[in-house]
Amino acid sequence: MADIIDIDEKRPHKAGQAMCLDCRYEWTAVTPAGTFHMDCPKCQSKRGRWLIDADEREVDKFICTLMKENRALKQLVADLVLNAKERAEET
Ligand SMILES: [Zn+2]
Repeated sequence: MADIIDIDEKRPHKAGQAMCLDCRYEWTAVTPAGTFHMDCPKCQSKRGRWLIDADEREVDKFICTLMKENRALKQLVADLVLNAKERAEET
């Protein structure tokens, strides 16, 4: 008889810091990739969220807003990225 394989074990997993939006409890969560809503291990609320993902999205949104508001800043950021690349190539 064939062994039973748990399909969730074969999916890529993600580990990271999560926080409950209700009780602010923080824990290290491991879930199948693509999971965004987790059960809080402390209060059992469904409002557990990735801490890092939220931060990255907020930073992206912040940069997008700045860029829309200021084309000169967009040029400045482009120059900074170019400078950083040039410096990285020199070393
Ligand atoms: Zn909680």
